[in-house]
Amino acid sequence: MSAVIEVEKLRKSYGEIKAVNNISFSVAQGEIFGMLGPNGAGKTTTMEIVEGLRPADSGSVSVLGMDIKQRPRRIKGSIGVQLQTTSLYPRLKVHEVIDLFGSFFPKAVSLEEIIKLVGLEDSSNKLCINLSGGQQQRLSVGLALVNDPQILFLDEPTSGLDPQARHNIWDLIKLQKEKGKTVFLTTHYMEEAERLCERVAIIDHGEIIATDRPDRLVSQYFNEEAIEFQLDRPLGDEVLRQLAGATNVVMENGRVTVYSKSVPVTISALMEVAKQGDMKLTDLYVRKATLEDVFLKLTGRRIRD
Ligand code: ATP
Repeated sequence: MSAVIEVEKLRKSYGEIKAVNNISFSVAQGEIFGMLGPNGAGKTTTMEIVEGLRPADSGSVSVLGMDIKQRPRRIKGSIGVQLQTTSLYPRLKVHEVIDLFGSFFPKAVSLEEIIKLVGLEDSSNKLCINLSGGQQQRLSVGLALVNDPQILFLDEPTSGLDPQARHNIWDLIKLQKEKGKTVFLTTHYMEEAERLCERVAIIDHGEIIATDRPDRLVSQYFNEEAIEFQLDRPLGDEVLRQLAGATNVVMENGRVTVYSKSVPVTISALMEVAKQGDMKLTDLYVRKATLEDVFLKLTGRRIRD
């Protein structure tokens, strides 16, 4: 599939801070592409450079085959950018805001269509300030769609939402893909990246450290499974590292994760150690490795640290 976004060797610094440090990636037509990273990783800076809202220090960005520096207006007419919900007009009604945004473009999707798309039929007459967090997010996605864009940019679209509201936004995003649109989003939610994005770029300290399909990222970095449990007292991780089949150990606040290539062998060795040391293991379960584990392996910390 052809690329609709191509970024080459992009850099942007703020004083000493290298917010974006030589990153390159491309987004294919019709895919949901996610940039996953912790706070301050450089996601928003990257996204806003690609949208033409911030200048880069160096590197190149092409959107829909056009250079962002040469054709910024043309590009802006073909993309949809989600605003932070805090910048919605609190004292306007939902239908008024949608009409207002529609008036910015020569050709806009009808009010009724946008309202239906984002499921706000019952709230059209409400003031924006009286919408729930999830409804506000849906409205801000709707506003990004008024010009029927080819590419939709969403910066942390489900931040702060409860699981139900988050799922509603995911459905809305998937619907856009079905309609043939390309979606470029940022997130710091592993689950969002894993369940929604077809490809993910993991970004940390302004650098992309891996890009691929979520399942491929996991299988590329892990052929182990994770055994998690709680210990009733501290235990040196050396003992755990030496368990048969174990490849790595992570300890956090009494919670232990042992990565193992052979779960039954590791668990039986673990039980033996616990028995000899008269220790109690609780809340033990085995799970497949996830993007969270990949992030931990690549950066040495959790995304939420
Ligand atoms: P968050 O999820 O917190 O928004 P992010 O991954 O989007 O994080 P950015 O907002 O792109 O990260 O910020 C990357 C780095 O650049 C941070 O260290 C931030 O403090 C810095 N930064 C971003 N914008 C500016 C600015 N306008 N002036 C100075 N520093 C900035």
